Amino acid sequence: ACVLAIETSCDETSVAVVKDRHCCSNVVTSQIPVHRQYGGVVPEVASRSHLETINQAIAQSLAEAQLDWGAIDGIAATCAPGLVGSLLVGLTAAKTLAIVHQKPFIGVHHLEGHIYATYLSEPELEPPFLCLLVSGGHTSLIYVKDCGHYETLGETRDDAAGEAFDKVARLLKLSYPGGPVIDRLAKEGNPKAFPLPEGKVSRPNGGYHPYDSSFSGLKTAVLRLVQKLGQDESELPVPDIAASFQDTVARALTKRAIACARDYGLNTIAVGGGVAANSGLRKHLHEAAVEHNLRVLFPPLMYCTDNAAMIGCAAADHLNLGHISPLTLGVQSRLPLTRVMELYKS
Ligand code: ATP
Ligand code: MG
Ligand code: FE
Repeated sequence: ACVLAIETSCDETSVAVVKDRHCCSNVVTSQIPVHRQYGGVVPEVASRSHLETINQAIAQSLAEAQLDWGAIDGIAATCAPGLVGSLLVGLTAAKTLAIVHQKPFIGVHHLEGHIYATYLSEPELEPPFLCLLVSGGHTSLIYVKDCGHYETLGETRDDAAGEAFDKVARLLKLSYPGGPVIDRLAKEGNPKAFPLPEGKVSRPNGGYHPYDSSFSGLKTAVLRLVQKLGQDESELPVPDIAASFQDTVARALTKRAIACARDYGLNTIAVGGGVAANSGLRKHLHEAAVEHNLRVLFPPLMYCTDNAAMIGCAAADHLNLGHISPLTLGVQSRLPLTRVMELYKS
C-alpha cells in the first residue's frame, strides 16, 4: 500500500509518502531552533509551529514523491504517545485529508513507528526480533512478535537515555538537544577519564533486573563530578566528562540488549530512536554483536530521530493487513505498546 503519513508528536513536523517499506519522500521540519532558547520543548509553541508548517509539508511531500492523491491508498498520523496539542494538529490534518479524498485513515503508535524505522533500510527483515528503543522519552527492550504485537521486556525506571543526554548537556552548559553535542565532544575525550555508575535496578528478592535501566543516578554522579572539579567552568574537562558519560550509557544499554536477545533466543537486534544515532552506542553494540554472533541493525540517522517515513512504514503494514482506524480516534499522551491493536477497528 502507498500511504501519506504525518508525524507531529513532539517538535518535528514531518510528512512522508511511503510505499510499503520504501520511502518515496520524507519532509522533516525541525523546531529545534525555536525551542533552543528555552532549553527544551515548550508544548504551546510546538503545536502552533506544527500548525504553521503542516500544509506546506504535506504539499512538499507529495511533490517530492511525484505522486498525486490518486496514488495514495491511505492517510496516516501518529496518535499516541506524545504532546496532545502537537498530536492533535497532525491527527486532525490526516483525518480531514482522509474524508476529503475518501481514503482509509490509519492512526499509528509513535513507538511502533520507531520500531518500523529499521524496515526502511532492511525491507527483508521479519519478526521475531528484539528492538532496543532509545529516544528522548523511552528506553525499552521490545520483543517484536508481529505487526501490532509487542511485549516490553525492559524499561528505564527513571530518565530515558535521550533525556539523560539532554540533562547532562544542560549541566555542562551545552546547547539543546544534548545528544548530538555530547556525541561530538566525546570524540575528543577519554572515555576512561572518570569512572561513573551505570545505574542498576534492584529486584525485590535480591540481585538486579537484567533488562531495566536507570539513568538518574548517573546524571547525579556527573553533577557531583562537575561540582567536585569545581573551579572555573571554562577549565572543566568537558570532552573527558562527555566521553565518560557516553561510554557508561553505551555500555549499560549494550549489556542489557545483548543479555535480553540471548535469553529470548533472538538473533537480531534492531535499534531505534534518537539515541540510536549515538556513535558510542553503535560502536559498543557492534562489537558485542560480533562477539555473541548476533546481528545488529541501526537505521540511517535520518530515520533515528522523529520522522514521518517510519510512521508511514508502520501504517502501510497495518493497511496491508486490513487494519483501519475509526475517524473517531483521538490522541493520547500515553499508551502502552501492548494496546496498539486498540487503534484499529476489529
Ligand atoms: P519519544 O520517541 O520517546 O517520544 P522523542 O521523539 O522526543 O521521544 P527522538 O526524536 O527519537 O525522541 O530522539 C531525540 C533524543 O535523541 C534527544 O534526547 C536527543 O538528545 C537524542 N539524540 C539525538 N542524537 C543523538 C546522539 N548522536 N547521541 C545521543 N543522543 C542523541
Ligand atoms: Mg524530537
Ligand atoms: Fe520519537
